[in-house]
Amino acid sequence: MRDSNTPGQIDLEPLFRPGSIAVVGASPNPSISRNILDTLKAFGFAGHVYPVNPKYEAIGDLPCFPSLRDLPGAPDVVAFCVSHERTLEGFRQLPEIGARAAVIFGGGFGEAGEWGRSAQAEIVQIAREHGIALCGPNCMGVISPHARSATYLQNGSSADAITGNVGLISQSGSICISMLADVSRFGFSLVASTGNEAVVSSAAVLDYMVDHDETRIIAIFNETISEPERFVAALDRAAEAGKPVVVLKVGKNERTREAIATHTGGVAGDERVFSEVLRAHRAIEVTEFDELVEVLAAFQATRLPEKPAISVVTSSGGVAELMLDNAASNGIELPPLPDDEFEEAQRVIGAFSGDGNPLDAWGNGNFRVNTPHALGLVGQVANTGSVVLSYDNNDGAPMGNIADYLARIELLEASQKASSKPHYQLSFRPGLRIAEQTERLRALGIPTLSGIRPGLGAIKRLATWNTFEAPERQPIASADSGDEIVIAGRVTVNEHDSKRVMASHGLRTTREELAATPDEAAEAAGRIGFPVVLKAVSDAIPHKSDLGLVIVGIETPAELAEAWKKLTERLENAGAEAGILVQEMVRGGLEVFAGVAHHPGFGHFLAFGLGGVEVELQDDVALRKLPLREGDAEKMIGEIRGASRFEAYRGRPAYDTESLATCLYAISDLVTARGDVIREIDLNPIKLMPAGQGLVIVDALVLPMKKEAGENS
Ligand code: ADP
Ligand code: MG
Repeated sequence: MRDSNTPGQIDLEPLFRPGSIAVVGASPNPSISRNILDTLKAFGFAGHVYPVNPKYEAIGDLPCFPSLRDLPGAPDVVAFCVSHERTLEGFRQLPEIGARAAVIFGGGFGEAGEWGRSAQAEIVQIAREHGIALCGPNCMGVISPHARSATYLQNGSSADAITGNVGLISQSGSICISMLADVSRFGFSLVASTGNEAVVSSAAVLDYMVDHDETRIIAIFNETISEPERFVAALDRAAEAGKPVVVLKVGKNERTREAIATHTGGVAGDERVFSEVLRAHRAIEVTEFDELVEVLAAFQATRLPEKPAISVVTSSGGVAELMLDNAASNGIELPPLPDDEFEEAQRVIGAFSGDGNPLDAWGNGNFRVNTPHALGLVGQVANTGSVVLSYDNNDGAPMGNIADYLARIELLEASQKASSKPHYQLSFRPGLRIAEQTERLRALGIPTLSGIRPGLGAIKRLATWNTFEAPERQPIASADSGDEIVIAGRVTVNEHDSKRVMASHGLRTTREELAATPDEAAEAAGRIGFPVVLKAVSDAIPHKSDLGLVIVGIETPAELAEAWKKLTERLENAGAEAGILVQEMVRGGLEVFAGVAHHPGFGHFLAFGLGGVEVELQDDVALRKLPLREGDAEKMIGEIRGASRFEAYRGRPAYDTESLATCLYAISDLVTARGDVIREIDLNPIKLMPAGQGLVIVDALVLPMKKEAGENS
């Protein structure tokens, strides 16, 4: 429920760093309003607090005002803790009293009923017209620990306790509650529960957090991305500022894709598109809540890993195997200990099983000797970027000596000092924690992680973020073919014209000629050379073979005459008007497809996969946001499951993947040049020839941008 055409740049400063806060519906009784007043007091908020309620003269030691109009000064934020009707009534007064931000906690607006929708619409209009940063409706509110401010549903006892470097943006209130329930491993710089996002969107808050000094990492829990363009721009700014953005998205995009007209459009579903956006713009995507939390915890290390591969020290062969299995299925690298270090480890620890990573440092059981020795070795090995010491214990555990576990803190501290790698403690059973250990390690910049998949995965994610390298490439200008095909305004661009568009970007297409009569067709076939293919060509017929309008394997003039008859008959029966194309028949080669899909908010995407007869492999598609970056095309070709098909096999030479990469880059360049008019492209099939022999585009379909959709990003 937002006005998609007004991505207003409303100032969020009054919302997050207010000098004065009015609480409408203030009450001394247990309530949201009471929570807010108590929290502001407990936080030591230094600005003005204005309770508003005609029923009270004062609440606690604060004078209470009968209405917003009676306030002694303009409030930066107005928090509404009253019924829907009175919220609407109060909101109408905000412009005249000079309020600059507001929080509406209650639900029952945009998401429910006619009155609620029209009330939200009016509120949104007022907010936009007067630049009022409205958080909500249907949200928990915001917390700014550094500003000692909170307009938040729950009451807080101490700003210091929750202060940290994590900026949290969540559409779901419960996620905020859960996040704030444990601040032992990381704290918050800002918390924004955005709810319905009627005015202030997640993208707007993200934008704000990029410039917020105390925020060093940003966590987003989202159901919808309501301002995609702004979101992407903010991701780029965050990357530029060196702030990782970790995203856990549930559900579907709010803005649905246009009707799917191409094969490519069909394979580029919303979820994959969003993942590719995150990848292209250096965000960290997680799919589970525990993964999100562990990334935030792992970020608290004094430094970030320079390599994704991890060294682990344990005291158990069984746990080592559990980790190896888990790591393998989650793409986490635990490379073996190099030979020299392996020997050196055995010299002190004694014999152990496995290849030394995870390194089982139990040996003779003397952890005070073995653990530092093991840590010392893995702290220096060149093939990993981080060190994890893994063991489990818990506050109140009936077994084990806590002092022994706490003694490991010094071992980790010494090891981290002697190494350039970040160090972490990991409990392989999720959730186990010794509070004192967590606190002391946190002070040393050694995060306490929980669970193998989320814990080790967090280190890997941060390392990948830290070593992100995706150089932009310079698009190659189109060859000036002198006959730029008109694309805009057509329903679809037929095969013949679409191929000329491709050819103008240096792509090889079939030799072909339009023919008006059987004689002209025969002459064309003479020039092209048999065998040929006969096809109907029309903007109105994007899918030809469905209607029997592709006749392949025409070997002789007689067969050509016969095919002409058949094709014209079929066209007549279908009542369709079309040109007729005589085309070179391309023998052999591997059929692949490449194409472009378009998302109204996120722009163009390139899809690539095996084509033609390999339709059963349709879900085996590589996807990238356009424009491609250096190396993207080669990676796409390598990452489809069917990639082995490109390799030499039993005497058959390898296929020309080099030309294929060039082709994918050329498509990217074409979209860079003409993406304002091109919505989708299908090149299906492309015939990929043996190495050194290139490829030929056999069929092409371009879909123009629909102007009325009003989107051409
Ligand atoms: P459609 O509009 O139905 O996608 P195509 O032009 O792709 O029509 O033709 C259908 C199939 O016929 C292709 O997938 C390909 O296998 C084969 N084909 C079409 N044109 C040629 C050609 N010039 N050389 C070889 N095979 C062709
Ligand atoms: Mg085709």
